Amino acid sequence: MVSDSLTHMSKRRGKKGEMCPVCGERMKKPEDHLKKKHPKLVVQWEVERFQKYLMMNPLDDVSKVGVADRMMEDDKPHLALEVLKDIDPDFPDMDVAFFTAGQAAQKAEDWVTGTYLLRKAMAMNPDLPEGHFTLAMMLMEQNRFYDAHVELEKLDPDLAEPENRDYFRKGKAAFYMDVDDICNSRGIDRETFLESDRMFQGAYDLMIALDYDGAIELFERVMDIDPRYPSPLGNIGTIHSLRGDKEKARKALERALTIDPDYTLGMHNLEVIDRAGGNPGLMTVSTRMFSKDELELAPPNALLNPGFERLSPRISFFTVKDRWRLRRGLFDFDEFLVLDEGDHFLEAGWSRPDPEGRMPEIMGFEGESRSQLGHLHLRWGILKLFTTSATRMAVLKNILLNDCGIEDVVEEDGDFVLDMMGSAGKPIHSVPIILENLESFPDSSSFNGCEGVLSRNGSFQSSPYM
Ligand SMILES: [Zn+2]
Repeated sequence: MVSDSLTHMSKRRGKKGEMCPVCGERMKKPEDHLKKKHPKLVVQWEVERFQKYLMMNPLDDVSKVGVADRMMEDDKPHLALEVLKDIDPDFPDMDVAFFTAGQAAQKAEDWVTGTYLLRKAMAMNPDLPEGHFTLAMMLMEQNRFYDAHVELEKLDPDLAEPENRDYFRKGKAAFYMDVDDICNSRGIDRETFLESDRMFQGAYDLMIALDYDGAIELFERVMDIDPRYPSPLGNIGTIHSLRGDKEKARKALERALTIDPDYTLGMHNLEVIDRAGGNPGLMTVSTRMFSKDELELAPPNALLNPGFERLSPRISFFTVKDRWRLRRGLFDFDEFLVLDEGDHFLEAGWSRPDPEGRMPEIMGFEGESRSQLGHLHLRWGILKLFTTSATRMAVLKNILLNDCGIEDVVEEDGDFVLDMMGSAGKPIHSVPIILENLESFPDSSSFNGCEGVLSRNGSFQSSPYM
């Protein structure tokens, strides 16, 4: 036994480089290893170091914007967001702060927040060519051709900073070349394509907002004007599958494949129908943390199996009219745990005691186990809520507006659903809140149906988390 471990140790000692404190691997170049294998930890360390630096060297708001710019040049968007987060919302150059924060969010690939902040900046300074271009790029990341086109139409490269003009001209030309390629492949003109994309986005938004009837109607209208595009039919197939109608789902997907035999997502989804026996196979979250009254807030179509709903990360933004009252409201409610706080920002987690929690058992810690249900972030006079499902978002809003009594303190600004495959944000339309037969959703603590996630352009994919 001894010799075994000794050989092992001598082998390890023989290798070059020191051991990684995180994973135990030998690192030839520690910096490269950490960046490649543990990028999130590196970001966290950098932020913590930066926070200490900022505490020792307090900055005024003008200097904060300058430092944020430098951090962007150094390709450190997380540090740019860090130095900007405590800017006073009454800062006179808030448009510049929103623009820099939006660009930082873009670099950090947080398209929802980036798009939202850029729109804030553009509302204050509508003629900024750099804003239109950055917005168009972010909308392209979300595959929103029509919306990107609208921004590019407003962009006049001649009005941009001289060093950006050529880049903007080329970017604009490249966008319309891509559009024309798609038009040629589908035999439609540019105008029809843009209209098709606009309606497709609307239909897709309805689908992920769980308004299935509305979505099918709009997808059918896309098919009327753009008959060689298979994705509307693919998504109709997905909706049938989500409703448990395997035959209708199969028919729609097979028809989509006759339109385009290379529609790989359609092929994949046909396979999944068979493999899962009609079960759409989705990542789900348990609803057992909520009371019966709270479950009544769930949007129709949200709850799948008894006690479960589809995992679909949600983001909502609120404009805050009185941030001091909001802070008091949050502090007074014991389900919100303050994580970080400054003069003008607040970060809090939303959690509840989990009576069935196994964490103390597993981790050996004492005290109660809590389920993390959501995240709240107040900066620049904006409150951003994050949850992992539609019901959770409905419950959280209800707590904020009713239990915390701050309905006149905040104003709802926008709801987004995160597309987990494309990490793109989709504004959602409001849906009426009705739920029948609550009795059919008993308390359940088992976890099932964890097979895949809904993705854009049609349908579900096997879960990367399995
Ligand atoms: Zn490591």
